[in-house]
Amino acid sequence: MGPEQTILKRVFLTISTTGTLERPATDLGFLLHKHPDKAQSFSTSHGTAHVFYPEASAERCTAALLLEVDPVALVRRGKGKGRGGAPDAALAQYVNDRPYAASSLLAVALSTVFKSALRGVCAALPGRAEALLPLRIEVPALPARGGAQLVGKLFGPLGWSSVAVEPVPLDAQFPEWGDSRYVQLVLEGELRLADALRQLYVLLPVLDDAKHYWVAPDEVDKLLRAGEGWLAEHPEQKLITSRYLSRRWGLTRQAMERLELVRLAEADDLQVEDVDNAVDETSDTEERPVPLAEQRRDAVLTALRDAGASRVLDLGCGQGQLVQALLKDVRFTEIVGVDVSVRALTIAARRLKLDRLGERQAARVKLMQGSLTYTDKRLTGYDAAVLSEVIEHLDLPRLPALEYAVFGSARPHTVLVTTPNVEYNVRWETLPAGHVRHGDHRFEWTREEFGRWAEGVAERHGYTVRFVPVGPDDPEVGPPTQMAVFEMTSKEAKAA
Ligand code: SAH
Repeated sequence: MGPEQTILKRVFLTISTTGTLERPATDLGFLLHKHPDKAQSFSTSHGTAHVFYPEASAERCTAALLLEVDPVALVRRGKGKGRGGAPDAALAQYVNDRPYAASSLLAVALSTVFKSALRGVCAALPGRAEALLPLRIEVPALPARGGAQLVGKLFGPLGWSSVAVEPVPLDAQFPEWGDSRYVQLVLEGELRLADALRQLYVLLPVLDDAKHYWVAPDEVDKLLRAGEGWLAEHPEQKLITSRYLSRRWGLTRQAMERLELVRLAEADDLQVEDVDNAVDETSDTEERPVPLAEQRRDAVLTALRDAGASRVLDLGCGQGQLVQALLKDVRFTEIVGVDVSVRALTIAARRLKLDRLGERQAARVKLMQGSLTYTDKRLTGYDAAVLSEVIEHLDLPRLPALEYAVFGSARPHTVLVTTPNVEYNVRWETLPAGHVRHGDHRFEWTREEFGRWAEGVAERHGYTVRFVPVGPDDPEVGPPTQMAVFEMTSKEAKAA
């Protein structure tokens, strides 16, 4: 029997930090609530977890977590919990061909053994628990479905200064056999220990992608708690959420919706005045230059009038400035503002004085909460929809969902989409090079990028599209805002 067939399967992870005499690295022991001088063992549902410190000096301290997986306990647990008492097929895998890298189990052990550390609680050294710590985390054999590249994508955006991922060869002596599904992961950077542990708690099982226990509804709560502060902003949020929840679509959707609300609440709090709204103070002309936001509203109103629209959706209406402008023109008989942010809608309602409008005015306007990445029957049958400065607030991978909800499902006759032209950013004096205009912008496009997207959308859904510059159209870099005007083709309109 080779070492890999032994009954006990070992899983392994180390956490190291460095320090000085005043701030010794051995503080790690306090933060983890595990004393560096003692090796300790804990019984977990899947076997025994050991914590010990291969090194512990003021300069350098390393804590190791080793899990000895007990296949018998695993199977027993599976029987107890599984449907009809049959052990889960995934369980069989752990027992049979998963030698030492069952990282879902490691995550469970992590949360059992380092429970307080995961919550960032440290009565002995509260300041240290809050502080950024120089950390090095090593997982020598991490099963990674999706390979080294996915590992990089998952840990890359999380604040580490270095994310080193090395594929582990199937057999070191026969490199020609290629790589195994394991990678060696080394994370280095300055993070709060609790944040690092919570990332691992979620991402180890996500990479393993073979969660062994049944997904209960409270898994969503667990995920959101562990994801606090990083998951709502993560570009791979969808993959993380869906894998973590074992691809239960109902739960995944629930989690994504809650994350979206978190993200928007955060964005709202950060909301600084758009650069667009800023007026150039250095200008010595007497006339007040028209802020770009106002020019954009005018361009939208003109395009809506040209299209002959009277029933209009303002999708991602924010605080209701456009809705307010639309209300002033009686040709717009029905105006619906939609936003996912309850907070924005509350402000919009106040701005529009909805509670004090006369009956006729009130009948023209409605505000609704909703997410544009899901189809919504309430949005069908309108003449026009406006998406003013909205698409860039979505993560790119979610754009197709919005595209389908608007052009595939709601299908208004006319759609106006405005978005920043990133080429113009060099002309903003207040904008540092390479920066987007607003902290919550997920992307900003060149004219060509926007053009390509818009033409694709038009073709896929039976629309024509033309482009209108908004703001001064610079000969070199174009206008600050680009607007696409989509019109349903007459063939499609007849069919509709
Ligand atoms: N249209 C307004 C506001 C733009 S800010 C204007 O031109 O000034 C972007 C708005 O889109 C925010 O209010 C935000 O809450 C909203 N938003 C972002 N993602 C959304 C989504 N998936 N569904 C609905 N609204 C969304």
